[in-house]
Amino acid sequence: MRLSEYFLPTLKEFPKDAEIISHQLMLRTGMIRQASSGIYVWLPFGYAVLKKIEQIVREEQVRAGAIELLMPTIQSADLWRKSGRYDDYGAEMLRMKDRHDRDILYGPTNEEQITDISSHYFKSYKNLPKTLFHIQWKFRDEIRPRFGVMRCKEFLMKDSYSFDISEEEGRISYSRMFLSYLKTFQRMGLKAIPMEAESGPIGGNLSHEFIILANTGESKVYIDKRILDLEIADNVDYENDSKNIVEEWTQYYSVTDDMYDQETYEKKVGQENRLEMRGIEVGHVFFFGDKYTKPLKANVQDSEGKINPIQSGSYGIGVSRLVAAIIEASHDDKGIIWPKSVSPFDYVLLNLSPKDENLAKLSEMIYKKISQNNSLLYDDTTSSVGEKLNKADLIGIPQQIILGKNSIQNNTLELKERSSGKVQVIKIDEFLKQFNNG
Ligand code: ATP
Ligand code: MG
Repeated sequence: MRLSEYFLPTLKEFPKDAEIISHQLMLRTGMIRQASSGIYVWLPFGYAVLKKIEQIVREEQVRAGAIELLMPTIQSADLWRKSGRYDDYGAEMLRMKDRHDRDILYGPTNEEQITDISSHYFKSYKNLPKTLFHIQWKFRDEIRPRFGVMRCKEFLMKDSYSFDISEEEGRISYSRMFLSYLKTFQRMGLKAIPMEAESGPIGGNLSHEFIILANTGESKVYIDKRILDLEIADNVDYENDSKNIVEEWTQYYSVTDDMYDQETYEKKVGQENRLEMRGIEVGHVFFFGDKYTKPLKANVQDSEGKINPIQSGSYGIGVSRLVAAIIEASHDDKGIIWPKSVSPFDYVLLNLSPKDENLAKLSEMIYKKISQNNSLLYDDTTSSVGEKLNKADLIGIPQQIILGKNSIQNNTLELKERSSGKVQVIKIDEFLKQFNNG
């Protein structure tokens, strides 16, 4: 992609009304534009990141055994009346009427809708277990939308729902989702910590929020530092490892302020391991048994012929919130530092003297060669050297390929790693070898 032809409306000034760094940087790099309060346009650069994140989330859901479908954004009020949530949900729900005066709503979540599906298709223990997911826009009329896409009204969520024959089986589905979350966030370069959350009717440690530590987070958290040393192996096996991984990751005290109890914290966590900070919730896993299946009559026959409500759980990830959360976790005073896995482009190519004909030719050649198999943003504009270098740092693409005055004479380029700022001078032929065979 040539920058001269791309649509990247960057801002030089810091936007005054954005309170947190991720919101400032998303506006400055032309990722989003506010359409109205809490509602955003995803401009091309932002949308590219959103899609990368969505794809990582999807891949780890599928690896964990979940199956993708797509439910509509608009739902009928009827199901919500049956579950009792039509009245309980309150003002966050956007309610509308169709032309026949029927009550409809823009879905803030999908438990009712998916439970209705399960009641039609899952009749026998032979149909279970099943975990279904979709990645779909949600609407919540938040009382105080703020921090850009971090807390907005229209946002993209991945929500999965597990259906099992028994609570015991349900725990297995829960563990798989738990592991899937750890892997998903790790692949994005994030350390998301599972924290015990309010667990509703079943109790027993079956609700966790996944939180990224950041000073700008909305939740206060209390953790045992040792949890920060845990990691998930790349080749982890969902079928065999999930249960042990849940045990490993839940052995240390880690809660948000809703669940905080000073006495337990001080008893369980030695002074040297205590960490009190703030964090951003990026996901929530919750096993709630028959909370929705009972009122919506989603029943299943077990192997002995007995009919019981399906045991179910729901699992959300804030896909669009993650874009901001990653920036909160990965930036410096020059701009964003995208982890490779979510960067909109693999490389940015800077021609610092575009008026030099030979250099322009060389840049074209390099641009064409690399972009055959990699995504590359080519700054072919006539902006000043300083502007180009600053913009490349601001937009945070992991690798910068820099061509300047000496490139022709010495047959070299500079390869700058955005995260460390390290610059290597490399012979151009040597550098291009890795892009052969494409
Ligand atoms: P919060 O406490 O932040 O309001 P929640 O408990 O309402 O979150 P869930 O219903 O569990 O959130 O939704 C799943 C995920 O969707 C959350 O973990 C979060 O990442 C994301 N999310 C929820 N509300 C918003 C919002 N208003 N804007 C952006 N993302 C959101
Ligand atoms: Mg909420």
